Amino acid sequence: MISTALLTQAVDLYIGLGSNLEDPLQQVRQALSELAELPHTELICHSQLYRSDPVGPADQPDFINAVAHLRSQLQPESLLDQLQALEQKHRRVRLQHWGPRTLDLDILLFADLQIHTARLCIPHSQLSVRSFVLYPLQEIAPTLQLPGGRSITELIAQCDRGTLAPVQV
Ligand code: AMP
Repeated sequence: MISTALLTQAVDLYIGLGSNLEDPLQQVRQALSELAELPHTELICHSQLYRSDPVGPADQPDFINAVAHLRSQLQPESLLDQLQALEQKHRRVRLQHWGPRTLDLDILLFADLQIHTARLCIPHSQLSVRSFVLYPLQEIAPTLQLPGGRSITELIAQCDRGTLAPVQV
């Protein structure tokens, strides 16, 4: 049973989505629908879908990425439980064996909280260095201020876009 511990009121938060296996476009589109169905949670909007080169080994398919803006009353660890259940669901349906991810869901920002526990690092540790997170995030939150005082504009200025491009549909 996944916990659904609640905050006293809903807060704004941002989720990074990524997939490079088993029809990644469909994986991310389906995950966006599933985020909208999470308990005590509303999908406010999401970015376009972007295509990016893989980070790490180059002999793997390109990634499809997006960022979603949610408003949720779930506590951070309960939200993580829900996201990990969605990741498991995508793996179980699509893959025979444990292997590369069909779906990766990261909590990028959670209100203005800064969390450093065994299970959670918020803001996400890679947030400021990943173009496939920063550019979709800027698309949907162009005036965002991060906890600690930096703005999305400042972070983007220090992060090359590389080959990241919106998926043409
Ligand atoms: P990865 O597969 O590299 O995305 O890492 C998954 C692990 O990262 C999980 O076991 C989480 O407990 C941990 N984690 C730490 N911070 C976060 C975060 N902000 N969002 C999602 N997972 C996180």
